[in-house]
Amino acid sequence: MASLLTLEEAQRLVLERAAPLPGELVPVAEAAGRVILEDAIARVDLPPFASSAMDGFAVRAADLPGTLQVVGESAAGRPFDLALEPGGAVAISTGAVIPQAADSVVPIENVVRYDNRVGISHEVEPGAHIRPRGGDVAAGELVMAAGGRLTPARLAAAAASGVAQLKCARRPRVAVLATGSELVNPGDALSPGQIYETNGLMLSSVLAAAGAEVMSQPPVVDEEGAMREALERGLAADVLVTSGGVSVGEHDLVRAVERELGVEEIFWRVSIKPGKPVSFGVRGDTLVFGLPGNPVSALVGSELFVKPALRALQGVADPLPRFEPGTLAVSLRRNQERDEFVRARSRVDGDVLVLEPVTGQESHMIVRSSAADALVHIPRGNGELPAGSTVRWLRLATD
Ligand code: AMP
Ligand code: MG
Repeated sequence: MASLLTLEEAQRLVLERAAPLPGELVPVAEAAGRVILEDAIARVDLPPFASSAMDGFAVRAADLPGTLQVVGESAAGRPFDLALEPGGAVAISTGAVIPQAADSVVPIENVVRYDNRVGISHEVEPGAHIRPRGGDVAAGELVMAAGGRLTPARLAAAAASGVAQLKCARRPRVAVLATGSELVNPGDALSPGQIYETNGLMLSSVLAAAGAEVMSQPPVVDEEGAMREALERGLAADVLVTSGGVSVGEHDLVRAVERELGVEEIFWRVSIKPGKPVSFGVRGDTLVFGLPGNPVSALVGSELFVKPALRALQGVADPLPRFEPGTLAVSLRRNQERDEFVRARSRVDGDVLVLEPVTGQESHMIVRSSAADALVHIPRGNGELPAGSTVRWLRLATD
């Protein structure tokens, strides 16, 4: 047992084999959630021209205070070519072009309007309420570094700075295959000894949210011929993720059949709880994950191994799971040999993020686990981790 691979070693072995997939140019309108492989560089200044930050009047600061003649209007979306003469003002809307020679904008609420004149009773700072050209980013400057995911704000930033297409890694194609003769699709009646298939559903949903193009296969029975056929089909993908059949039981055939199909096993079993019997291998460029069948083990394995691999395939700069610090609400006994991943609910108590383990920590208890929004890392070791200890936790999908 002492020779079991540690989580860190296992994750390193996975990431060593997960190079970014080939890039393709993606129109910005279709790129939400994708990861860019090359720096995005501004094509235009943003704003592209000096513009007004307020609805009001463009003026020359030197003329104020005073009463100014309104000589025209600059509206958003229109050019404005007239230069502002001394003593004049131009009605202007937010986002409209600042007339030449104007150096500030007085908001509409700070003027008194008479017919075609405006009275302004205070001084203004030159530059007031003007957004300078290139004030957000200048053409040629970095908008977003390679390896970042296109969040809504980054997508907007790219589009605003004139980037119409982005070089993104191809989305990983992931085959998901649940194995087990006991599995029945939701909606069908259960016969004695059967249970509903949940892992295929769960993993498909987890991995699609992580950027994969998921191909779900129907569950396969623990029988060599059927399994060989289903695994072979799955091996055509960039990533094959199976659940079940990787333990030491007589019906656990996945690894043996994969070996026959030419999968080179990189590791089997990692010192984590739940999820110890996880396997990882490769065939050609295909990454092959064998997650254990217990649903909570499969979920934990998907967070610790499969999602990091998917991020790396997409070119994410920092693909490992991002743990945050939190405070344990109760004391927990540590596992001597394995790092444990306890399902918990997080709550904010003043300035402290408190983690309360859910009741029912066994690896088949998916209903209990589904109440959790946090996976708390309890490092292996002796004795108790007392209540109030600082721990690392990983956020689980909640909304
Ligand atoms: P295994 O890893 O195949 O030995 O399965 C371990 C446990 O997980 C057994 O109780 C299985 O019935 C259960 N299990 C395996 N696959 C699934 C699945 N796709 N959905 C729900 N439970 C499963
Ligand atoms: Mg099984």
